[in-house]
Amino acid sequence: KQPHEKELFGHPVGLYILFLTEMWERYSYYGMRALLTIYMVAKTVGDNPGLGWTNSESLALYGWYTMLVYVMSIPGGMIADKFIGQKRSVLVGAIILVFGHGVLAVEAEWAFFTGLGLIVLGVGMLKPNISTMVGGLYKPNDIRRDKGFSIFYIGINLGSLLATSSVGIVAAVYGWHYGFGLAGICMLLGLIVYVWGQKYLVHVGNVPTVEEKKNDVSLGAMYSRLFKSTKHAIIFIALIILSVYAGFSFEGTDNWAYGLLFVFVTFVIGLMMVIYKDLETQVMKDRFLVLLLSFGIVIVFWGAFEQAGGLMSLYTEQKTNRDFFGLFEIPTAVFQGLNAGFIILFAVVVANYWAKRKLKNKEASSLFKMATGTIIMGTGFVFMIFASMQYQANGESAMYWLVLAYLFHTIGELCASPVALSFITKLAPVKYASLMMGVYFASTGLGNKVAGILGENAEHYGEMTIFTAIFIFTVAFGFLVIALLKPLKRLTHGAEDKERELS
Ligand code: GLN
Repeated sequence: KQPHEKELFGHPVGLYILFLTEMWERYSYYGMRALLTIYMVAKTVGDNPGLGWTNSESLALYGWYTMLVYVMSIPGGMIADKFIGQKRSVLVGAIILVFGHGVLAVEAEWAFFTGLGLIVLGVGMLKPNISTMVGGLYKPNDIRRDKGFSIFYIGINLGSLLATSSVGIVAAVYGWHYGFGLAGICMLLGLIVYVWGQKYLVHVGNVPTVEEKKNDVSLGAMYSRLFKSTKHAIIFIALIILSVYAGFSFEGTDNWAYGLLFVFVTFVIGLMMVIYKDLETQVMKDRFLVLLLSFGIVIVFWGAFEQAGGLMSLYTEQKTNRDFFGLFEIPTAVFQGLNAGFIILFAVVVANYWAKRKLKNKEASSLFKMATGTIIMGTGFVFMIFASMQYQANGESAMYWLVLAYLFHTIGELCASPVALSFITKLAPVKYASLMMGVYFASTGLGNKVAGILGENAEHYGEMTIFTAIFIFTVAFGFLVIALLKPLKRLTHGAEDKERELS
């Protein structure tokens, strides 16, 4: 057997190469992210000086940064589809990331902004494309695909778990820039593993062939198609005007950024309209449509879920009794690790549960899993409502509420997130596979931004109101998707019906 045909634990060896590469990439991403806000607000004096920004300045940058890394997945995916393929895009992304994290080790303001910029570009090149490559390891109807993504997802969270402990400690003991540097070194490890493992990946993520590029047109030509129909042109231009207007009507100094974001989103919507029109068969069109609709679920899901790093983290810090049997106080950051820890514990259990259901011919479509995941995750907020009630009565709330909330959030995430990745690799037209993965990540990025906005509003309305609203909205939304499951599934034209063990 050729190396790329070899298997380990029932999956192609290439999966483990991608697992390790992504594990180190996420290590560097989450390790750096764990330092980011506290570094920005740390005083400029002392032996470990930070940037001395205010809370709101640093949260604003944090929000835009975490959104941008994912939004950049759209150009990252496009470059792969049109020019260099996914495999080389991941390589380029990994190299940029080594430099990006590396430069943060330098103590200077120019280095800080250069580093952030490079990381945004690097993640954009790497993250969507490595995910699409995981899908490429499996044949179209291979039932192992969902499980493969669950294994890959463990890699993501192993990286995040290792990072949040080690990078934080190094930064606290030796200084911020050693922490950032450690993230860079580990990204280098990821790059080395990836380059070494190329022999297991010869068959995936290659440069698009001449045949695949046959009907390929430039981006400009694609947009010009929008203007061939007066109706589409009017819709598109109206959307642009509306988005500029809406963006600038935001309060605050970053309204220009909102304006730009909305215009960008409008351009993406325009592109989706052209691709839709361009697809050859009705089956392809329908599948494309259902994929776009599923991105709505993605925004709702992450908009609620990502309270973890914001509102829930503040709640942990300020309102939770974190006393550990009178011995010490558990640091807030540890609670951030619960999610990754629970993923590692339960990923296989959840994946097996769904695989069994499928074999028994019970409902186990991706859309059903995503809706169920949203409901379970949303239900986790009930515990946060209880916690807030306890806080109102006693002036502090117990830790177990957070543990329960994160447990539900994680089980929900395991139902929805790896499955969504897998779903895209099944439904996206081959020619646009990476682009659609990019749009998926951009949707999660928008979810992050929504989460930030919701979190900010907690100051106004109180967190109990926000938690309650999130709970009601997400659960109702999940049930709505389930109610619409039949027509939605019809649009997939059996893309998931014949999945069986093919190996
Ligand atoms: N935690 C997951 C990851 O880092 C999901 C992030 C996302 O989809 N925005 O890959």
